Amino acid sequence: MPTVDFVFSGPALNTFGEFVRCVLDGEPERADTVPGILYERNCRDPCFRKAVGAERDIDDFFLPDYDSFFEALQVHPEPRRTGTSKPMLFFETSRGCWWGQRSHCTFCRLNGESMAFRSMAPDLAVRQFEWLFGFAPAYTAFFCTDNVMPRNYAREVFPRLDPPPGAEIFYEVKAR
Ligand code: SF4
Repeated sequence: MPTVDFVFSGPALNTFGEFVRCVLDGEPERADTVPGILYERNCRDPCFRKAVGAERDIDDFFLPDYDSFFEALQVHPEPRRTGTSKPMLFFETSRGCWWGQRSHCTFCRLNGESMAFRSMAPDLAVRQFEWLFGFAPAYTAFFCTDNVMPRNYAREVFPRLDPPPGAEIFYEVKAR
């Protein structure tokens, strides 16, 4: 398909970084040798066709670099000024699904590789929230990419938070 350049199969936190390194080195074709990255040159090779990127531990904690996102908003301030959009900062605290690993919802197409639930340790999650809150008052909307909110966070994380005025935190939850 000519409109698709590269496909990242499975977890991409490692493979995407490797891919960017190849591009910055001026050797994008080197990415053809990385399992989990598919391109028209390697997609028919059985070794690569079914390969997925390596998983990264959920507690392998790092702070995302949002600088280029902030710079882009500076260049295009219209949506904020007119109130047509509210920028959100995305973050992750878990992967997989604690419900789906014992009773997979029939309509669910998420978690093709692993339904096993892995959630960030509460201390790390608190640290990540404190870092996010540091972007207030400019940014007060925080969007979690988790499939489902970790159940222990209601007891072990949220009571420890001191969100800034007007903060909004989005999580998907599993209704009982
Ligand atoms: S709760 Fe959500 S993520 Fe989990 S199995 Fe159901 S639809 Fe999928």
